[in-house]
Amino acid sequence: MATSVLEVGSPAPVSGADGLDLEELTRLHSGLSGQDLLRAFLGPKRPGPVALVSSFGSESALLLALVAEIDPALPIIFIDTGKLFAETLRYRDLLIGRLGLTQVRTIVPEADRLAVADPAGTLWLSDPDACCHARKVEPLERALAGFDIWISGIKRYQTAQRATMPTIELVGGRLKLNPLAPWSRERIETEFARRALPPHPLEAEGFLSIGCVPCTGRVRTGEDRRAGRWRDSDKTECGIHHSGALRAPAGKTDR
Ligand code: SF4
Repeated sequence: MATSVLEVGSPAPVSGADGLDLEELTRLHSGLSGQDLLRAFLGPKRPGPVALVSSFGSESALLLALVAEIDPALPIIFIDTGKLFAETLRYRDLLIGRLGLTQVRTIVPEADRLAVADPAGTLWLSDPDACCHARKVEPLERALAGFDIWISGIKRYQTAQRATMPTIELVGGRLKLNPLAPWSRERIETEFARRALPPHPLEAEGFLSIGCVPCTGRVRTGEDRRAGRWRDSDKTECGIHHSGALRAPAGKTDR
């Protein structure tokens, strides 16, 4: 059975930048999910700086709506890899207006870094892991500076690798909240429909999980929703959800 808390081994307390006891927060709130978990971290007793990280992909609107119902001014980090569909950028703008989001931050890779790592823009062909690192992981590291807590929209049903994802993890010296981790696809659909949220425009064209243009394909009937991502390769993740993928800020560790 999937656990709700990422196990940490040392008895020493883990503190955030403002002296937060991240392990204690994990213990207190690990049984929560959805808006119950979000309210514990976004309510009046907010324990520290929090950001939501969103791809504005096919299922993103629901978590954005759940957050907007609590705090539409929450900082939302959107990584524009430079390889995204134009439809995704337009969908981001549509949802900003529809949900009243006021703090969406679009983060791009540093030009100097790409000039070295991916000068021709074709690194995805030869080394997609390195491409994801330069275009997603590193920009996210920069964007999360100053935040003790970040929120992601991953779900356990999405991949085998995510099947045991806890609702709260201690990653890179920060808390990572996965409020939808235990939710089923049916529950996502129900809540999405209940709020009359607009779907990503590419869903109607058969793109059921949407990332960068070169690494996203249509999903055939009967296939898993993520089957079009990095098709014909073993790669299933961009890397930002790997435990330890993000470097710990100065003075912070997971041990
Ligand atoms: S999804 Fe593809 S194009 Fe986008 S960053 Fe990863 S490898 Fe590069």
